[in-house]
Amino acid sequence: MSAQPNHAEIVIIGGGAVGCAVAYSLAKAGKTDILLLEKEPTVAAVTTPQAAGLVGQVRNTVERTKLAMWSVKTFSQFEREELHKPAWRQVGSLRVALCDERVEEFRHMKAIADESDLEVDFIDQQAASQKWPAMDFTRAKAILWCPTDGYLQPSDLTMSYVAHARKMGARFQTSTRVLKVLTNHGRVTGVETDAGTANCEMVINAAGAHAYHIARGVGLDLPILPVRHEYFITVHAAGLQPDLPVIRIPDSTLYLRAEINSLLCGGWERKALSTDPRSFPVEAEPPLIESDWDVLGWFAEQLAPEMPAVEQLGVRSVFKGWPTFTPDGRFIIGESSQVKGFVMAGGCNAHGVSGSAGIGRHVVESILDPDPSPYVKSLSPDRFQQPWSWDSVQAKAQHIYETYYDLGH
Ligand SMILES: Cc1cc2nc3c(=O)[nH]c(=O)nc-3n(C[C@H](O)[C@H](O)[C@H](O)COP(=O)(O)OP(=O)(O)OC[C@H]3O[C@@H](n4cnc5c(N)ncnc54)[C@H](O)[C@@H]3O)c2cc1C
Repeated sequence: MSAQPNHAEIVIIGGGAVGCAVAYSLAKAGKTDILLLEKEPTVAAVTTPQAAGLVGQVRNTVERTKLAMWSVKTFSQFEREELHKPAWRQVGSLRVALCDERVEEFRHMKAIADESDLEVDFIDQQAASQKWPAMDFTRAKAILWCPTDGYLQPSDLTMSYVAHARKMGARFQTSTRVLKVLTNHGRVTGVETDAGTANCEMVINAAGAHAYHIARGVGLDLPILPVRHEYFITVHAAGLQPDLPVIRIPDSTLYLRAEINSLLCGGWERKALSTDPRSFPVEAEPPLIESDWDVLGWFAEQLAPEMPAVEQLGVRSVFKGWPTFTPDGRFIIGESSQVKGFVMAGGCNAHGVSGSAGIGRHVVESILDPDPSPYVKSLSPDRFQQPWSWDSVQAKAQHIYETYYDLGH
């Protein structure tokens, strides 16, 4: 690091979508003395590039809806500008109900959307078929249409954050692993890396599956559990093109979209697989993930009633990774009251790409606003100060994953 800057007001650990979004948001808020450190040779090298890139705003609470709407506003702005674009396609989304209880849930979601000023409408089977002709909607009891949803390419989004943040003065250093956050009298003073030491007043922990280790290094026990997630992309399929809307069929625990002329299909299996972060050190990686063909095959079976052709389509590639989950299914954002200057931006519960701009905005609010909103305060790492056990964290976080599309989630 000697040839590199060895001081910054704020050091961000981790160059995934979240860390880069935080760099962008801080720079936009006037905090430009930022150094982002990433252990891999490039940013967007670990979980982020595996993501499907779905961006959905229809949620169960106003706060989560508004966070997602902020992300969409940011993606649309990036797409209009000349710097690196996120390949944001605002194709809309269809959410399909297959049972009466789900129709009730959709009514609730529509009410939340109305309250949040998000355009969402019920449409009939015929209108849905016009938007996605290769899909059979005859089992649908209700269909929600959100015209401003869509999808993007997660690596491109990350590069957009980098380009915009860099233009405002933020610095990015790859191939540099943070080994430890340094503190003195309960206050952050710097970071020790495999390339030397950098002094700073604040550290932001956006280290994804390593966020647990970074926090542990300053004496904080945070329940951040990596849980396996995967989806497949088929060979080219008749009738698929990039401007088709994203589809979610929560009763079949499925999401899907077109990937150019292929089908991308993923879901939430009933038996989650997690890895205990204590089982690998900060210098090592979580276990390699093999494609689980039983699970991927089950996704295809679930989709077959709506799209029989899926059973004949060959799989071209499988994407997989260890997104992190928390026992209450909520982000961990904000400064710890136990270690001054130590700020969390993690526990994304598998929406760290779509949520990234909103997360960045909330991190800024949590550290710069003298009176953050009750929602932002409620995401503080301080909520985990009471003793907890890994057994219970594993059970609860896996349950969040397994019931991701369940009623009332
Ligand atoms: C198959 C799959 C599909 C998904 N689909 C979606 C989707 O459609 N929409 C959505 O919103 N989300 C989706 N997700 C979830 C999404 O990928 C994550 O929520 C998001 O990528 C988290 O971003 P991150 O920046 O926190 O983590 P990461 O991208 O993992 O970034 C963390 C970074 O920190 C770095 N790092 C770790 N330790 C250190 C250290 N000690 N020093 C320096 N650097 C360090 C790592 O190298 C890494 O680059 C999906 C995930 C998977 C696996």
